[in-house]
Amino acid sequence: MKPFTCPTCKMDIVSETMHGWVRDRNFGIETGWKQHIITCPTCSEQANARRMAENIARLMGKSHIPPRMQDWHFGSTPGDVDQTAIAA
Ligand SMILES: [Zn+2]
Repeated sequence: MKPFTCPTCKMDIVSETMHGWVRDRNFGIETGWKQHIITCPTCSEQANARRMAENIARLMGKSHIPPRMQDWHFGSTPGDVDQTAIAA
């Protein structure tokens, strides 16, 4: 994947499942006057999606593809999925 800088949290995203953090805008009596740090909504969503895609790829590993899925095509699956799964 191509490294990018998240427009919301300004974090440099350099790996598939990486995401940044932002300050929660809610601040006051409801947070006990503490400022909370939350996962960045912009890039954490993508990180979760990538992590999920990775898990699916792992679950569907070569020997466990159900018969009804044999006709499915995975042409759009990135070539680096396996390496990423091994490294994780
Ligand atoms: Zn972000």
